[in-house]
Amino acid sequence: MDFVIVIGLMYETRKNINELETQLNITLSSGETAWFRAEKNKLPFRLPEYYAGLIDPSDPGDPIRAQAIPNEKEFETILQELADPLGEDDFTPVEFLVHRYPSRALFLSTGTCAMYCRHCFRRNYTGEPQIPNEKQITKAAEYLRDHAEIKELLISGGDPLTLPHDTLNLILGIFRDCRPDIVFRICTRIPVVMPHMVTESLVQMLAGYRNRGMYVITQYNHPVELSPVSIKVVRRILDAGIPLLNQTVLLKGVNDDAVVLEKLMNGLVRGGIIPYYLFHPDMAEGTSHFRITLRKGLSIFAELRSRLSRLALPEYAVDIPGGGGKVSLSGDGIAEIIGNKYMLRNSDNQLFPYIDTGID
Ligand SMILES: *Cc1c(COP(=O)(O)O)cnc(C)c1O
Ligand code: SF4
Repeated sequence: MDFVIVIGLMYETRKNINELETQLNITLSSGETAWFRAEKNKLPFRLPEYYAGLIDPSDPGDPIRAQAIPNEKEFETILQELADPLGEDDFTPVEFLVHRYPSRALFLSTGTCAMYCRHCFRRNYTGEPQIPNEKQITKAAEYLRDHAEIKELLISGGDPLTLPHDTLNLILGIFRDCRPDIVFRICTRIPVVMPHMVTESLVQMLAGYRNRGMYVITQYNHPVELSPVSIKVVRRILDAGIPLLNQTVLLKGVNDDAVVLEKLMNGLVRGGIIPYYLFHPDMAEGTSHFRITLRKGLSIFAELRSRLSRLALPEYAVDIPGGGGKVSLSGDGIAEIIGNKYMLRNSDNQLFPYIDTGID
């Protein structure tokens, strides 16, 4: 397997670990080296030079490094973890479209991302260049036309902003032709991991759809990610009349700390991005090293609630493994707690057992 570094807008491969260490200016730990050496089925390694530059090479526990550099811990799968953690296969009425909640649907626009986040819960889908063709896009659009109850379409993946701009424009155009009233949410990590890909022409293309509702949903997980370059492209998106919201993933060793999250949320608000969700990690295979307990998550959230303004406070939520949907942990989603066994209530008032496998 080649190791892909993204320099400027070019994807370059490094053939061996020494080359990689030189390029990144870090010495890999034994756990990281073991991942690179293993001949196993794995979420590919791809890291933009920009994001690598945010790593503090002297700190083995650096929060950017934990998200970007793979570790052999990804080969450990626990009993509760699933290949399809949200049970989305059961909610896929047509190819590439997930319709889990009546009023909104999610379109898988590509399997590619600029960086493969080591905590990715769509890891069964990402990493492969799966791009729907025009016929498949049209089929999904026809489904939207037949389901007027769907008001918002999440364009996800993978990362839709890695698509060629005319492909993304084609996708958005076909959907709007079928459903002139549909509101778009572009779910992307590009402003965080590779901000210079957010060009003026991309933003203008997106802005062409804003009159009927166009939102960009980012994933900032740590205040270090709010670099001047990143904030500048956020400003570019805002100036084009497109609002931004953020979904943070609560990750052990990255941001499982009220002080860090407080700084992140205030930084987002200052940058013009509204904190939307704080997600407890999903039960995706090979991600248990990123999960803290719900108990600790709840205590961090309680701190945030007392420190942050209502504007800066996201909703803390978890997805029930297997398809139960999202549960609000900051609201009324917890019906019962017995030790590490939870009874969770989704937005349809249905109860589901949840075993907390997190370790603090
Ligand atoms: C989270 C999610 C949505 C959007 O839900 P909101 O609570 O409105 O942000 C839509 N579809 C799927 C499949 C989701 O997982
Ligand atoms: S950008 Fe999103 S889909 Fe892509 S690897 Fe990161 S978390 Fe997964």
